Amino acid sequence: MESINPHTGMKIRSFETQSDEVIDQYLQGAADTFMKWRKSSFADRAKLLRGAAALLRERKNALALLMAQEMGKVLRDGVAEVQKCADCCDFYAENAYRFLQKQVIESDAEESYVAYDPLGVVLAVMPWNFPFWQVFRFAAPALMAGNVGVLKHASNVSGCALAIQDIFRDAGFPDHAFTVLLVESARVERLIRHPVISAVTLTGSTPAGRSVAGIAGSELKKTVLELGGSDAYLVLDDADLDLAVETCVKSRLINAGQSCIAAKRFIVVKPLFRQFEQRYLEKFQAIRFGDPMEAATDIGPMARADLRDQVHEQVMQSVQQGARLLTGGVVPDGPGAYYPPTVLSGVRPGMTAFDDEIFGPVAALIEADDEQHAVTMANQSIFGLGAAVFTADKARADRIARELQAGSVFVNALVKSDPRLPFGGVKQSGYGRELSWFGIQEFVNVKTVYHAGAAPKPTPAKGAGGAAAQD
Ligand code: NAP
Repeated sequence: MESINPHTGMKIRSFETQSDEVIDQYLQGAADTFMKWRKSSFADRAKLLRGAAALLRERKNALALLMAQEMGKVLRDGVAEVQKCADCCDFYAENAYRFLQKQVIESDAEESYVAYDPLGVVLAVMPWNFPFWQVFRFAAPALMAGNVGVLKHASNVSGCALAIQDIFRDAGFPDHAFTVLLVESARVERLIRHPVISAVTLTGSTPAGRSVAGIAGSELKKTVLELGGSDAYLVLDDADLDLAVETCVKSRLINAGQSCIAAKRFIVVKPLFRQFEQRYLEKFQAIRFGDPMEAATDIGPMARADLRDQVHEQVMQSVQQGARLLTGGVVPDGPGAYYPPTVLSGVRPGMTAFDDEIFGPVAALIEADDEQHAVTMANQSIFGLGAAVFTADKARADRIARELQAGSVFVNALVKSDPRLPFGGVKQSGYGRELSWFGIQEFVNVKTVYHAGAAPKPTPAKGAGGAAAQD
């Protein structure tokens, strides 16, 4: 596997993929570690995770540099990403004990309660777009719950994968509590089917999710899927237009447009549409795209040239289908996987920019007749990850928030992830949740423990109410 600098197009480093034999040894190591790790105390796990957080903060500049080199992230965004990972570790170090406390439930038992046991070795298949954040938001809760993790990271960010493994090792986690497997996606099926793997989490594209879920389903292994999105931001007639434009531009360009929760469709009601379009365009044209190492850069290159080419094709298709290209849309000369900030207007259902996810710095502006039309179009998508509504009326916002088919709805704000709040999608954006209490619950066995007492009453015989007792 190769890491290629998307700014220069030059190879940085090659990584030998691991043989099946080596993988099997690692997986056995993970299984052995799990048997001990599951018995460790929350306090011990928390201490190690806080150590990992400290190392992340200590190494943030070097790690941001690695991201800039492997996938083109602007340096200051890389630093912020690493900081967020550290905060997530601290959050779970602080709260996991409370989240997984035994819960006593009244029943006919002398005592009955729910205990939360870890599932075992969890396989994480992760994307390159937030190479640290995606991994830590899985690993921090999974490890605190007593699971161990194995990571198959995206093939273009192997350096980041190994740097994460180093952090866990240097923080003092036992060997194989967190292990990187250097394998191509074609070998993920073998990993999922491996008897050591108990569950799988994938963050990535919808086709990858479909494949992983199908294989895991045939093995009856639990999955969590965080997939693609085409988030709609609704701008209503009573919106603060300055705030709406500012937030919509920012959201579309996060990480050079390569974020699952970057807004992709901007649905603006008729009375505001022209003004919104004009101001949006001005702001997009002022964006500086270029070398991710330079402080003046707003957005860097896309992560890979093939992904850039795919985005360009989607833009060209949309134009052929009738969308108006207001700015951008031309692949720059020279090296690197660059794509300019691009605005398409007059986008409608049936066009690629409306129906598909465009994973790059391309905005689709859509005019709606009124609020109801805006909501209908927002929901007219195979995806359901995030959404935002801009309005001055709280009651209106709350009503619309409940109508939108999305895993999260933000009002007058940019959709973002936060360790305290659950994160995930509906429809083809996936299922299951990460972060918060909900995230740590995904990879645990919710176990009922029932104490009948020292001298239990005899169970009634079948036919005398006994069958019900056996359920
Ligand atoms: P991707 O091509 O699906 O890759 C994601 C990961 O899955 C990589 O490790 C990749 O390995 C692996 N993979 C790809 N195809 C696979 C298959 N058929 N079977 C098993 N593993 C497979 O996605 P990406 O281009 O890296 O990331 C962009 C996508 O991720 C977008 O759709 C974005 O919306 C989504 N995403 C979602 C979230 C969320 O939280 N919902 C967050 C971030 C990104 P290789 O690199 O070796 O191919």
